[in-house]
Amino acid sequence: MTSKKIHIKGLVQGVGFRPFIYRIAVKNYLSGTVDNRNDGVFIQIQGSKNDIKNFFSDLEKEAPPASSIDSVEVFEAEPLEIIGFEIVKSKNTSNEITDVSPDIAVCNDCLADMKTQANRINYPFINCTNCGPRFTIIKDLPYDREKTCMQPFIMCKDCNNEYSNILDRRFHAQPVACSVCGPKYSLIKENCEIEDFHEILCETTEIIDTGGIVAIKGMGGFFIACDAKNKEAVNRLRSSKERENKPFAVMFKNYESVAEYCNISEEEAKFLQSWRRPIVLLETKKSLASGVSMGFKTLGTMLPYMPVHYLLFEKVKTNCIVLTSGNISDEPILIDNSEAISKLKNIADAILLYNREIYNRNDDSVGFVINKKPRLIRRSRGFVPNPINLPFSVDGIIASGAELVNCFCVGKGNQAIISQHIGDLKNAATLEFYSEAINRFNKLFRVKPELFVCDLHPDYLSTRFAQNFGIEILQVQHHHAHIASCMAEHKISDKVIGLAMDGTGLGIDGNIWGGEFLLTDFSGFERERHFEYIAMPGGDKAAKQAWRMGLSYLYKAYGKEFLNLDIPFVRNLNEKDCSLLIQAIDKKINSPLTSSAGRLFDAVAAITNVCTNGTFHAEAPMRLESLAKENITENYPYGKGKEISFIPTIKAIVNDIKSNVETSVISAKFHNTFVKVILETIIEISAKTGIKKAVLSGGSFQNRYLLQKLENMLETSGIQVFSNEKIPANDAGIALGQLVIGAFFKNNNCKLH
Ligand code: ZN
Ligand code: ZN
Ligand code: FE
Repeated sequence: MTSKKIHIKGLVQGVGFRPFIYRIAVKNYLSGTVDNRNDGVFIQIQGSKNDIKNFFSDLEKEAPPASSIDSVEVFEAEPLEIIGFEIVKSKNTSNEITDVSPDIAVCNDCLADMKTQANRINYPFINCTNCGPRFTIIKDLPYDREKTCMQPFIMCKDCNNEYSNILDRRFHAQPVACSVCGPKYSLIKENCEIEDFHEILCETTEIIDTGGIVAIKGMGGFFIACDAKNKEAVNRLRSSKERENKPFAVMFKNYESVAEYCNISEEEAKFLQSWRRPIVLLETKKSLASGVSMGFKTLGTMLPYMPVHYLLFEKVKTNCIVLTSGNISDEPILIDNSEAISKLKNIADAILLYNREIYNRNDDSVGFVINKKPRLIRRSRGFVPNPINLPFSVDGIIASGAELVNCFCVGKGNQAIISQHIGDLKNAATLEFYSEAINRFNKLFRVKPELFVCDLHPDYLSTRFAQNFGIEILQVQHHHAHIASCMAEHKISDKVIGLAMDGTGLGIDGNIWGGEFLLTDFSGFERERHFEYIAMPGGDKAAKQAWRMGLSYLYKAYGKEFLNLDIPFVRNLNEKDCSLLIQAIDKKINSPLTSSAGRLFDAVAAITNVCTNGTFHAEAPMRLESLAKENITENYPYGKGKEISFIPTIKAIVNDIKSNVETSVISAKFHNTFVKVILETIIEISAKTGIKKAVLSGGSFQNRYLLQKLENMLETSGIQVFSNEKIPANDAGIALGQLVIGAFFKNNNCKLH
């Protein structure tokens, strides 16, 4: 008889892993034990060599879908005095951190049960050890039903039998429920409440089919739905939500319906269909109502992930519905029933809700695929709180994140646990959510905060929050944190050429940075090159109104002569605005200097008249990207040097506009120029320093055109290139970078900057 000890690390807790081990051990006639520890699952098995071999093969092939194995270590062991196989109680429980699973889309077995099990026919809260809500309903650890939002629902006898039977699919599935004992939906319509679920389905789908709008309580918050093919409904939703131009995400009935409207690559299909069910940006091939994507050539698509979504699509006539976050402007997504009723009643014709609380608010995640790799733009439902594993300790550190698309991050052992999408902290309700979520993370993951890392910007509300927390703080430069986030993700700690390209981040010279070539490691950075400084007339206003940057670049390129340029952008400028802005730039009144890549994109979007006044964050660069024509290889000149100048580029663009070159071609040529600048600069820096690793981060790398070309061209030039995948390249990823820099500081007891 052979005996082995096995230590498995990864996401192996809260996803039905121990019952799975039990089943494959019993199936292969092995005796032994399995238990959860801080850092994974421990197994001891004993039996014949061949049976053990089959056990390992089952382990590899049949692991639960939501689990992910990082490593399997196998040791020889002394045989145990044990008959049969047992799940033993978790060993160290004191300061234990059990991985909390993200929420998981309903599985196919449950969808089948929903049509066959008597107590679960069309029951919309069906779930099992492989699927269902997790993070959104968990209040504390250990992960037991009493500590989740399922606590008020007492299991019926049937559910309890399944829950207690180790061979059942619902063994220890904490949210197990059925129509007898579990949560229920109700529909609020014109002050009436409908409780019969069949009637609810008929009524809800009737509203959608007749062009109405319904608010639907989802996994991590409320969403608002309407038929994505009904122009009037979509426009009405847009105007009542006061959302001018930002595209809506669409949920499709099934994969085939997505394929009818969008082109899908193999990797995109996998991403779209994964149990995490993110919104995936796909290239559109057939249009929905024009108000859905607002002129962009990509569409945010997702597949059903809750039983109720499947049940609605069984009945509703359309095969796609707009499903947008249920919130008022910049506020966090609504989670509370009564608040949703009062705030959404003017937007929605009816509100579909259920009587189980959402404890942890969690908006949908968003990502896209470039160069065959999925990348997240918003990391929330389905991903949070999966940790990022690091090769060093980050214990007791909290990172506050940035300000606009905030996520924070807490350190536990060697794991960085990044929060769900929080949002724009300048909104009071969002700031409250931020503070509440930090407290909840500290409690849930038993974090004992010792160091709070934040941005250098003194006015970020996240910086102020950290300063008022009452523990030691460390301020980290924004772009250093961007690069460190990507280094952490790829487990790089040696010096790299860091490219931080984004909209805004305070630099150590007091100017606003955002087009930076940094020689970086965790200990600090040297600013090797950067984009030439230019005035941002109006300060923060210039970040929203692209025409201000267009004017600033033209003024720098031509002096006051720019006013005589015969191009539509200049012709449309208001004379009074022009003289005010020129004065502001000359006298340096509220005109901070910036090296931002985002502002350069704004300027080009404005000068080409693509977008002069964005209605949502980064609209101008996104519109410019969306226009870029494919298969254009030309580019524009630029000025090399310590400060890279785009003035020659701007002049060449103006000439192209005057010669009536298509805007889509100008956009492509500008993008190509941007790629060339980065490529040539990196090659120069690499030749000078001998560093062969380039790390790309910052919001500009959400530009698909840019990222695709740049990665390929850098690689052909012999530069190893790394970009953000698991965490967003935008400011939502900053917290991870702050955390690892903080850890370096703490672990080495050294000073930064
Ligand atoms: Zn299931
Ligand atoms: Zn039940
Ligand atoms: Fe940034």
